[in-house]
Amino acid sequence: MGKLFGTSGVRGIFGKEITPELFADLGRVIATVLGNSGTVVVGRDPRLSGPVLENALVAGLLSGGCDVALAGMVPTPVLALGTKLVGAKSGAMITASHNPPEYNGLKCWNRDGMAYTPAEEEKIEELYFGRRWRTVGWDEIGTCREIDLLSRYEQVMAERVGFESTLTVVVDCGNGAASVVTPQLLRERGCKVIALNSNPDGLFPARGLEPNEKNLQVLAKTVRELGVGVGLAHDGDADRIGAVDEKGRFVGDKLLALMAAFQVKKPGDVVVTTVDASRVVEDAVEERGGRVVRVRVGDVAVAQAVVEHRAVFGGEPSGSWIFPEVHLAPDGPLAALKVVELLESTGRKLSELVDELPDYVTLREKIACPNERKGEVMRKVEELLPREAKGEISTADGVRVDAESGWVLVRPSGTEPYIRVTAEAEDEAGAKELLRRAAGVVESVVKKK
Ligand code: MG
Repeated sequence: MGKLFGTSGVRGIFGKEITPELFADLGRVIATVLGNSGTVVVGRDPRLSGPVLENALVAGLLSGGCDVALAGMVPTPVLALGTKLVGAKSGAMITASHNPPEYNGLKCWNRDGMAYTPAEEEKIEELYFGRRWRTVGWDEIGTCREIDLLSRYEQVMAERVGFESTLTVVVDCGNGAASVVTPQLLRERGCKVIALNSNPDGLFPARGLEPNEKNLQVLAKTVRELGVGVGLAHDGDADRIGAVDEKGRFVGDKLLALMAAFQVKKPGDVVVTTVDASRVVEDAVEERGGRVVRVRVGDVAVAQAVVEHRAVFGGEPSGSWIFPEVHLAPDGPLAALKVVELLESTGRKLSELVDELPDYVTLREKIACPNERKGEVMRKVEELLPREAKGEISTADGVRVDAESGWVLVRPSGTEPYIRVTAEAEDEAGAKELLRRAAGVVESVVKKK
């Protein structure tokens, strides 16, 4: 059977893998899975292909007998939480998250506001590839209305995340969906907000969308030159967060560790993170009496583990963070609020908190590899890598080798044509050496046809 879903929904380039025809079919399939009745909430990020795909998906849903509530341009977490709040049967978000503007995709949410599980995605794939869907007669076609999820979301945040702050926060929304939420949420709590790139623009002209060090240089410079509290950033659909401290340093896995530890309120509290996160997460969480559970990469795996272990937090190095006390979707604007709450509650500067944590050097590299060759390349890597980076091998997700000097992880991206390599050691030279060896193995395998 063919595959539609990657680690985070359906994803591809508009006009190639992603077409209105596909979305109309997916609308019919989703309606069929839902029993040709009930309401589906549909949202989209600011991509230029959003409206055409929305129209196609809605046509499919309506002709399959579902009613549609149109949320318009909203962050993914607003759509996910909204699905649960309005009692819809399902939510459908048209987004390609952090991918470049020519991409688009679909991510589905169930009535609990949780991302579709692999089993739910397989059901859709089965019906789609078997072309087994049911459409209804003219007198059973669904109805379509508009719905305001933003104000409902803001209300929940006001009720659930209560604090006041006079901190100055520079927010870089990358012209994505967060533009309509995060600056406002922070201002409502008293923060002085300087908003960069906070007008939605489907061309994403300002920067790459992943909230990583490379893409947040303007944010870092702005925060450093203003000498203000903190800089926060999001990806295109605002389910991720990135941050720079008041010195303009990108914070990365140490921010994940600080937040994970902040969420631990009593001994034994569980935090979920992924196999590619720094050891600093264990260091920070265990000091507070908490416990870390590691799972495979991807927010669906994290969400499932959060439920299974009744965790107090789930977070990935990518900046995709789940706060189960509010809801089960990764939420960038909520993460922004929580970072400011953390700073308020400690009364410390972010740089001070960061500098107290142990220094590991975590390096990441991505190596281009066509999607169709990933399986074959990974099989070779599994064979060759342990010889290069001596240590204990684990294949829970990709290939990870734990060596004395640190660890290295090689895994194929679920959303893009890359193989990702992560290496961590106690110093720069050690991490570079591990990364060089592992990347060398991957490159040589990719080159050899
Ligand atoms: Mg995203």
